[in-house]
Amino acid sequence: MSEHDKDMKMDTMVVHAGQRPEETTGAVMPPIFTASTYSQVSPGVHKGFDYSRAQNPTRYALERMVARLEGSTIAENIDPSCGGFAFSSGMAATCTALDLISAGSHVIAMDDLYGGTTRLLRQVRQPTQNLDLSFIDLSKPDAIKSAMRPDTALVWLETPTNPTLKLADIKAIADAAHAVNPKCLVAVDNTFATPINQRPLTLGADLVVHSLTKYMNGHSDVIGGVIATNRADLAERIRFIQKSAGAVLGPFDSYLALRGIKTLGLRVARHNESGLRVAKYLETHDSVERVVYVGLASHPHHALAKRQMVGPNGGGTGMITFFIKGGLDAARTFLENVRIFALAESLGGVESLIEHPAIMTHASISAEMRAELGITDSLIRLSVGIENCDDLIADLDGAFAAVNKSLGVRAG
Ligand SMILES: *Cc1c(COP(=O)(O)O)cnc(C)c1O
Repeated sequence: MSEHDKDMKMDTMVVHAGQRPEETTGAVMPPIFTASTYSQVSPGVHKGFDYSRAQNPTRYALERMVARLEGSTIAENIDPSCGGFAFSSGMAATCTALDLISAGSHVIAMDDLYGGTTRLLRQVRQPTQNLDLSFIDLSKPDAIKSAMRPDTALVWLETPTNPTLKLADIKAIADAAHAVNPKCLVAVDNTFATPINQRPLTLGADLVVHSLTKYMNGHSDVIGGVIATNRADLAERIRFIQKSAGAVLGPFDSYLALRGIKTLGLRVARHNESGLRVAKYLETHDSVERVVYVGLASHPHHALAKRQMVGPNGGGTGMITFFIKGGLDAARTFLENVRIFALAESLGGVESLIEHPAIMTHASISAEMRAELGITDSLIRLSVGIENCDDLIADLDGAFAAVNKSLGVRAG
């Protein structure tokens, strides 16, 4: 990292961090290097590139960018992608993080995780890697202290969680975990917050994982994942696993994700601003039981949010969860009557999305577990996009009117 990089603000970093003009032409964006292999002048003598699963210049450019955004200071001569590693999906990145711990390890995970992560842990890695899993509500301040064991190998955090938007105190949890076992890895899935709003490595986490698919790429046209670390020993091991297991991100997708990240600062500022406005609108609506939004004073962990989520416009992201009055019928009518919000899984794109976790994203979680987490039939999740916010609020207003009309018709 150059001295220059260290002084940059996030809005500048998303354009320049870890980047430089391409050497032969001066091109300001890295070319899409499609070659699978590289010629050598003598056996084993090459320019640091021998086979594209192991090294790809386009992927490196993306990986360096994400590593720097997440606060890694590893120099390029120590690790060629500075502690950033890109994978073919967020789940492939998560698998690679799990490959850092040995079979039979004790793992503590937040109870309210991305559904795919819960499925991977319980239905793939528990049986194949014999993991000893403890799912804990780590939003409770002392929960980590009672859950930690001297042999705990990994603490897996999501904050804010999906879809109940609980927050966990990254610094307190990392300190508590490392106090019991200095070797325990603390990993944070930072997909919801993005480094614009929250930088876990600077708060004591060992690893950050992202689904690039969401806010980072931001345009709903790439599936990808990334791991960032500021520890050279972990970077060396992750590089080895990335090359050995091979779930790398291809050069075209690496280029697209890097292109998407160039506007991350602008996009997240807008997501935060519109998220807060839509949350405030929902909070005053008669048809809404309750709104959960990190940037609202009514959020149970709002004080922590203000400390930990430091992005522009309150740092609350574009993610809102609310409970509609009238149960499943009302929720279904509401979801059928939005026009700008697309009814779809996923989140974090420029376009606004709406979904019903109990039926859609969290259907793979048992009904009992959903009840325990508060994922009821009246829970609706919004991913507020970058459209004009007046249009978005008018769209929600129209859907509420349709719900009231249908409830009125049935009552009469
Ligand atoms: C989408 C998502 C993932 C999985 O990422 P894919 O790119 O879909 O594999 C992991 N964690 C969170 C929080 C997500 O939203």
